[in-house]
Amino acid sequence: MKITKKAIQGPMAEYLKHFEAHRDALVETIRQLVEMESPSDNKAAVDKLGQWLGARFEKLGGKVTFHGQKKFGDHLQADFPAKTGVPKAKPILLLGHFDTVYELGALAKMPCKLESGRLYGPGVFDMKSGIAFMLHAIEALQTLQGGLPRSVRVLLVTDEEVGSDSSRAITERLAKQSSAVFVLEPSAGPKGALKTARKGVGEYTVRVTGQASHAGLDPFKGQSAIVELAHQITRISELNKQEFGEPKRGLTLNVGIIRGGTRTNVIAAEASADVDVRVERLSDAAKIDRKMRALKPVNRKCKLEITGGLNRPPMERSAGADALFAKAERLALEIGWKLKETAVGGGSDGNFTAALGIPTLDGLGAVGDGAHASHEHVLIEALPRRAALIAGLLAEG
Ligand SMILES: [Zn+2]
Repeated sequence: MKITKKAIQGPMAEYLKHFEAHRDALVETIRQLVEMESPSDNKAAVDKLGQWLGARFEKLGGKVTFHGQKKFGDHLQADFPAKTGVPKAKPILLLGHFDTVYELGALAKMPCKLESGRLYGPGVFDMKSGIAFMLHAIEALQTLQGGLPRSVRVLLVTDEEVGSDSSRAITERLAKQSSAVFVLEPSAGPKGALKTARKGVGEYTVRVTGQASHAGLDPFKGQSAIVELAHQITRISELNKQEFGEPKRGLTLNVGIIRGGTRTNVIAAEASADVDVRVERLSDAAKIDRKMRALKPVNRKCKLEITGGLNRPPMERSAGADALFAKAERLALEIGWKLKETAVGGGSDGNFTAALGIPTLDGLGAVGDGAHASHEHVLIEALPRRAALIAGLLAEG
């Protein structure tokens, strides 16, 4: 995307100029973050990165608090006061995570490298670039504005990629104390649209218990859990098509994993399936829940057990998010950049804060592609204007 050069002045132009001049430093921070691997399930590795990040935030004048965890890395909070003379107000929350989906050692196969205007590496897009934006935007405001025009709170959690169970309560508590939440997760599409709506995500497990028997000696004594599960899978997929299949409604069910049986010569006593559920509206989540729990066995001699539910509520469009987007759009336009917004199917911790009614703007991170995949990368060219937008949003309060 081209930025038109006419009539560019004002604070946004100043931020853009700053980040263009400091682009290499920004890239270097991202590289450092990527080269400290941080898989969600490796507490030691995540904590090492957490300590490094804590030191960086402290160096900028932040008051750093770690929320200790047993299983996952400690969640990191950093509080920055507004510069003196600014009236007291609720802070802005910069939200993100520093865990990644990649196993330790992934870096050997997908090294952090700069190639044809892109920076590659595990977690570079989701969301280590976003963390670098937080650091550099705060630093830029201190340099250019002599401090923060408003208090800023950073929360970086360590279990976002595995469902945020240990961090959700902290995220919600801090969000309630904030005036707005900016989520620096990856942006959407090649033009880097912001995310103003996200689907809610749920998961169900359908467990079938049948009766085992020898497939050769007693074939009719058994009650196959696998056959029963097959019936249930067909029902769930019919539910998807008939009840919820209107594409506009944004509601989908997917049987993504099945298990069952022990040997070919045994009628299977157990089988189960995991089902992914996506909803655009909270009211649909309750409807799906009723339908799932109402599933009955076709073979009455088999037993069905349905567990699970909604994990993240949908981030529904709201007036608060609309107002934040309008502000971002106007700031972007000041540097000739036509910012877009979009709705996406994937969830983030922004779903939690938006569901509380706190104005939330998501997808403020880098422009790139390949999140969770071997070609994960960000576009270098877009980094300065993305960082400038964060600085602009923080400056406006
Ligand atoms: Zn993410």
